[in-house]
Amino acid sequence: MENEEKTEKVCIETAQLDPNFKFEIAANPDGEQIFYCYQCGTCSATCPVQDAFDILPHQIIQKSLLGFREEVLNSKAIWICSTCFGCTERCPQRVNLSSVLFAIKNIATREKDMPDAFKTLIKNIFEMGRIDEISDFENEDREDLGLPTLDEADVQGIRRLFKKTKMTDLIEEEGAD
Ligand code: SF4
Repeated sequence: MENEEKTEKVCIETAQLDPNFKFEIAANPDGEQIFYCYQCGTCSATCPVQDAFDILPHQIIQKSLLGFREEVLNSKAIWICSTCFGCTERCPQRVNLSSVLFAIKNIATREKDMPDAFKTLIKNIFEMGRIDEISDFENEDREDLGLPTLDEADVQGIRRLFKKTKMTDLIEEEGAD
């Protein structure tokens, strides 16, 4: 028919879906909340960085539930989330989407890798105990703002935590010891 609307057909290879992916996520702290989602889309409408997402927040949940493991683990979106908790605040089902994304990022890190920018942050924390150096200059600024100055971070304590949690493995290539 001439004016008939064309609809795009999407074929899904069901053999490539992983029905256990949702349970893997659910095994992490707050990960089980993935099952409470009813796909209202409020999280995506709320997200301040959704324009940069390749998969929208509510789609990450839906795709995870359906078993699109590789697509979710390879998505940019899981790393772009700024952990502002806006989605968690507004979710009518009280799904802690930020925690669900932490769970997915943990799986992605174990099996694949993490973006270099995150490795740099980890390396900074390993070396300085913070993601940024706090010098006299920053402490003077803090005093001007009426904030207390910051003492040296407990770098040795942080390094012990890194070794216990195997975080050092992630930055080995970057030269940490
Ligand atoms: Fe699911 Fe909550 Fe997002 Fe709605 S706001 S789609 S219930 S996670």
